Amino acid sequence: MDVTSKLVRLFQVEKQIRGLRSRLDSAERFLAEQTRELAALDAKRSTVENQVKSLAVTASDSEGEMKRLDARIASIREQMNTAQTNKQYQAFLVEVNNFKTDRDKAETAALEAMAKVEEARKQLEELQKAREQRDQVRKVAAAERDTRHQEIQTRLNELEGQRQGLAQNVPPEAMTMLTMLLKSRGEEAMAPVQVHDRKRHEYTCGACQMSIPIEAVSALLSKGSLTKCVSCQCILFLDEEATRALQPPAARSAKR
Ligand SMILES: [Zn+2]
Repeated sequence: MDVTSKLVRLFQVEKQIRGLRSRLDSAERFLAEQTRELAALDAKRSTVENQVKSLAVTASDSEGEMKRLDARIASIREQMNTAQTNKQYQAFLVEVNNFKTDRDKAETAALEAMAKVEEARKQLEELQKAREQRDQVRKVAAAERDTRHQEIQTRLNELEGQRQGLAQNVPPEAMTMLTMLLKSRGEEAMAPVQVHDRKRHEYTCGACQMSIPIEAVSALLSKGSLTKCVSCQCILFLDEEATRALQPPAARSAKR
């Protein structure tokens, strides 16, 4: 078997492996996405939980301040009852009013903080719901990934065994070339020659569509020589369709 035919067989197994892997890869990607979303929800939840804690501290501090001011006001009121002069009485009254203003401020702050705590708690409930839903999706995604993995594992092992066997028969430099091309071009590492007009020698590369000289096509047809497209550098081969199109008309009708 010539080198190009060996490469084609290997390339076809490689494509099957990639096809199987891509189904698994998409399941893996979906699962990773769900895991990320879940982590984002957890981070959000922990932020809101911290907000609740600090708001609760604010509320409790303001309530403490209110109690302290209430006690102050009560004590001044008692002193007012014992005021000796109107002037003294008025001074106490001013003091009481000042404390009352402060007390109102503390009360407003406490109420605001408590309202915010309430809001944040609602947000936490919603986050919890969203988390449960996302976790369900993630579980389904994980099961799907496992199923796909199991489905393809046997076939993948088979194909990998085949690939190894076929690779052993490919000359080292051709193997290196294919490996590099697979890395850089994936499934366009190799491409079939497209025969447009045999008589006019119109041939193009199946990957980049640029024309291929007749000498290259002849070398492929006669010896299966290792041939690269001069434009895109992929390894060219003749598929069944091209081989049939390249046969002289007489041979074609004789085969029928
Ligand atoms: Zn090309």
